[in-house]
Amino acid sequence: AEEQLRRQDKLAAVGQMAAGIAHEIRNPLTSMKGYAEFLQLDETNPERQEYLNIILDEADRINSIVEEFLVLAKPKIVQLREQNVVPIIGNVVSLLEFEARKRQVRLHFDHNCDVIQVECDEDRLKQVFLNLIKNGIEAMPNGGDLYVRMMDVGQQVQISVQDTGVGIPEEKLNQIGEPFFTTKKNGNGLGLMVSFKIIESHHGKIYIESEVDKGTTFNVVLPVKAAS
Ligand code: ADP
Ligand code: MG
Repeated sequence: AEEQLRRQDKLAAVGQMAAGIAHEIRNPLTSMKGYAEFLQLDETNPERQEYLNIILDEADRINSIVEEFLVLAKPKIVQLREQNVVPIIGNVVSLLEFEARKRQVRLHFDHNCDVIQVECDEDRLKQVFLNLIKNGIEAMPNGGDLYVRMMDVGQQVQISVQDTGVGIPEEKLNQIGEPFFTTKKNGNGLGLMVSFKIIESHHGKIYIESEVDKGTTFNVVLPVKAAS
């Protein structure tokens, strides 16, 4: 009977997920269809370029939703290989330098050593930190500071992403990482769900500390490969 129950729970969870995906995809599809119909009716519409941009944006949106979910669909989300994580994270920080500057955010990157060997999947790890740092930047609509710190503490490496942004109210904290939980107009609420999944596949953990109007810290802890 217990097994039966568990299966029902799983089916219910899959059903909820499917409903969520369908909903998230239907909205942009409806809008694409609408704008395409406008364009079809009136080929000389002066707002043609604007409509086309909307259609392309919505297509991108659907694409990103599908891509996040594909990660979850893979039997093996990550392919672990021992490598130095310092330049991997450094690379993500550099990638976002321009985006940060545009939004009046100063990016800081500190690490207590230059080589930290971790069994990891480089691309997936980059995806996680791209998500976390972007979220941090987006949490500071009026600019601020974003600190990425890496600390080798022996058996583990702690990588923290700290912002000086809006923070997360206590009652929202337990919804973080749930599929489709977003407070953003253009968010999809999938970034953290996928990030949690990826870190779990690295045998790591994510801890969140947050204070409203002070900022938020995401702490990622990963096991370090012992020198042999
Ligand atoms: P999205 O960015 O598309 O909204 P995420 O899964 O990345 O989806 O994040 C889900 C939600 O978690 C965000 O909409 C936001 O409300 C909250 N959140 C995530 N990171 C932060 C942060 N650094 N500061 C404040 N809120 C955050
Ligand atoms: Mg996000």
